[in-house]
Amino acid sequence: MSFDPQQFKSQFPLFAQSENSDLVYLDNAATTQRPQTVIDAISHFYLHDNANTHRSSHRLARQATTMVERCREKAAAFLGAKLSQEIIFCRGATEALNLLAFSLGESLQAGDEIILSTAEHHANLVPWQRVAQRTGAVLRFIEDSQGVLDIHQLNTLINDKTRIVSISAASNALGVKTDLYSVKQLLAGRNINWIVDAAQLAAHQVIDAQALGCDFLVCSAHKFFGPTGIGLLYGREDALSLLPPWQSGGEMITHVALTQSEYAQAPHRFETGTSSLAAIAGLEAVLDWWGQQDRQAIQDYEQQLTHYLHKSLSALPNIKVLSPLAQNVGVVAFVPSDKTSIADMAHWLDEQDIAVRAGHHCAMPLMERVTEGGSLRASVMAYNTREDIDRLIAAIKSQPAQISSAALSDAEDIILT
Ligand code: PMP
Repeated sequence: MSFDPQQFKSQFPLFAQSENSDLVYLDNAATTQRPQTVIDAISHFYLHDNANTHRSSHRLARQATTMVERCREKAAAFLGAKLSQEIIFCRGATEALNLLAFSLGESLQAGDEIILSTAEHHANLVPWQRVAQRTGAVLRFIEDSQGVLDIHQLNTLINDKTRIVSISAASNALGVKTDLYSVKQLLAGRNINWIVDAAQLAAHQVIDAQALGCDFLVCSAHKFFGPTGIGLLYGREDALSLLPPWQSGGEMITHVALTQSEYAQAPHRFETGTSSLAAIAGLEAVLDWWGQQDRQAIQDYEQQLTHYLHKSLSALPNIKVLSPLAQNVGVVAFVPSDKTSIADMAHWLDEQDIAVRAGHHCAMPLMERVTEGGSLRASVMAYNTREDIDRLIAAIKSQPAQISSAALSDAEDIILT
């Protein structure tokens, strides 16, 4: 089946708004745009089904509860889980990783070891730093070179103190995919909790948690065309059953007395309080939508665009490309190689209505090693076109040498993180 990017793009109404008719949106690794069906589902929920779930027995409450549980089943299929109970709704990948860090951290002892990589997003780094401070556990790191992890270092890092391995499936900063099946082989037969941060990968590749054999996997819907404020935590049934709760309150209990409580089974043990119900309705819509897409065609098209973007930026004399092209999910980080600052260039591109991100992309340890002071980052999805990339390249070529200092200080404010 041939892929038609214009037809694909026409499903995303933001691009049809008059103020966006000239927009080149290349900030997809920060968040994606939403197809009409997601926007409709959110408004449909508030118009027709709005009630709280799992509590009341009236018609609307039943409808809302049915929708949430139906979405859970679809999410299980989307991630290749065996059972819908293996899916926990959370606010996003960050919240899911905080949940895991807290709950797995409950049984860590001083000297236990947690293996991360030097290329992680802050969401898969800072929560573990806090756990290490709280418990006396030790953080160890698989090193990367330009975002490429040397997975075989696991052989020397793992020892009988290793309790957790948590690494990303793809870097949001440089775009490189991790060889997860090598991780699987190296961890086979060991009693180690393996967590996959699939926030950057989920939009770009079919995920099969069962085939992978990981214990936990996290992702955020907003990075695969779904709503903000909703994400998924997959936990294999046996791994989840051992996990103590994180946040506490209503709905995560079976019985509450004044001084102690009994907790519900997963998934409800981890979903306390009122969930982002309208976002779950939007998530259901995006999961249905993904089910109708030709994922291989999308992936092939994104790969062509990534090659074109990488090649076009690399050909510019005043640009140094930082992202490797091999195993890249559509994220190209780059810096001006002349005296132009990244704030200056980001500001200029914004003036040309080209959206890219400038900064450390929430991966400071990685970015500070590969470049001083952060980078620009262009990231593509299947609604982008070669013309978008041509516009980016033309804008970089036409950037004037000087930009006003007032405009610059505005732009510098946004690149701090
Ligand atoms: N991990 C990775 C690899 C990511 O790309 C992101 C989002 N950029 C996160 C974690 C955090 O996701 P969120 O902000 O949606 O919680």
